[in-house]
Amino acid sequence: MTNKFDYIIVGGGIVGLSIAYKLALKKNDKSILIIEKENKLATHQTGNNSGVIHSGIYYTPGSLKAKNCFNGRLQLIDFAKEHNISHEMCGKLIAAFDDSELDTLNIIYENGIKNGLKDITILSSEESKKYEPFVDCIKSIFVPYAGIIDYKEVVEVLFKEFLKINKKNTVLKNTKVISLSDNKEQKIINTNNGTYKTAYTIFACGLQADELAKSDNIDLDVQIVGFRGDYYNVVNKGLKKVKGLIYPVPNINLPFLGVHLTKMHDGKVEAGPNAVFSFKKEGYSRTSFSMSDTMRAFSFKGLWILFLGYWKIGLAEYLRAFSKKRFLKSLQRLVPNLKMEDITIGKSGVRAQALDNKGNLIDDFLIKKTNNSLHIINAPSPAATASLAIADEVVSRIITQ
Ligand SMILES: Cc1cc2nc3c(=O)[nH]c(=O)nc-3n(C[C@H](O)[C@H](O)[C@H](O)COP(=O)(O)OP(=O)(O)OC[C@H]3O[C@@H](n4cnc5c(N)ncnc54)[C@H](O)[C@@H]3O)c2cc1C
Repeated sequence: MTNKFDYIIVGGGIVGLSIAYKLALKKNDKSILIIEKENKLATHQTGNNSGVIHSGIYYTPGSLKAKNCFNGRLQLIDFAKEHNISHEMCGKLIAAFDDSELDTLNIIYENGIKNGLKDITILSSEESKKYEPFVDCIKSIFVPYAGIIDYKEVVEVLFKEFLKINKKNTVLKNTKVISLSDNKEQKIINTNNGTYKTAYTIFACGLQADELAKSDNIDLDVQIVGFRGDYYNVVNKGLKKVKGLIYPVPNINLPFLGVHLTKMHDGKVEAGPNAVFSFKKEGYSRTSFSMSDTMRAFSFKGLWILFLGYWKIGLAEYLRAFSKKRFLKSLQRLVPNLKMEDITIGKSGVRAQALDNKGNLIDDFLIKKTNNSLHIINAPSPAATASLAIADEVVSRIITQ
């Protein structure tokens, strides 16, 4: 196999694969190599997420998240239809249970309208029950633009299509990028599986995005922090108590907090995820620990500031991570009739979230460039929904360079 490619993409999650597919379509005479350190694609965030097609209701109008979620959702649905990928636009209920949440509910509604979601509706308690009979809220927003999909299947299909476009396109799994250097215009990529050369490299490395950017001499004032999210499976009679997607009104400052109930593409129902600091970036159990990841995270001032500012919320999340009773209590806010025997321990995923050195979570997608590389630094939720639109954005930035 040659070690020279026109483009190399590092990272085999949905963002890397979407970029590979869109770049291959645009430059179908160019060779593209995908490098992935695991033995299969979509091993990390993409393979352990909630499987929700997000509508884009929450995001700041005009932001990359808002634009790419809107466009990406439309493209994703078309792509799923074209390739028979299992998905369903079941809609989502954002439910308020307390008067104190109504102002935020209205803000979210107005935001959704600004983001082009014309058919969202505010519902009374009774009207909400038509969608989710077991929810006892005082008001809700029904969002018909939300749905569910199998993101692993999306990645598989993107990969097959990518290979079809040019027979020189290929992937190397079990191949970890260790270091980078530049030789004139070329980027030299050293891996545990040989050295590769290219004129242009795109990095979509999720939880490791900051490490790869530093190896590429990018001056970063953010660090990627892993926030683990644990799920429970809803089982037995619980399955009948959830029809689609049931979400609480989020905390605007920490929108990824707040467990929800999610119907999955295969008919199962999941509850979660919570959000706790992960002592191992790619650790998927409640006790996963990596000394090097922990040392690196705690040597960053921003993390201390974040912890000091939100210690009460952080502690509550930790206690809930280890207590099924507390987890159930949060779920019973959404569906009071859920019982202990209706939930069993499920999977976990780890979110890659950029944090700046002042302790602020970076809300929007963040992309950095050099003369011969582009790094996706921050691509948290809804990046799976938005991935095909993010790929368009990336391809246009590379081509107009
Ligand atoms: C718990 C959870 C729930 C979520 N729910 C949703 C949802 O319902 N809807 C939604 O739209 N989004 C959701 N998201 C967000 C979404 O999953 C992510 O935004 C998206 O998957 C990011 O894709 P990615 O390709 O950037 O990252 P990843 O999928 O993490 O892929 C990065 C890849 O880079 C590889 N890599 C890293 N370093 C190297 C290296 N040195 N060499 C080679 N390869 C390397 C990794 O092995 C990995 O495969 C959720 C995320 C989580 C964690």
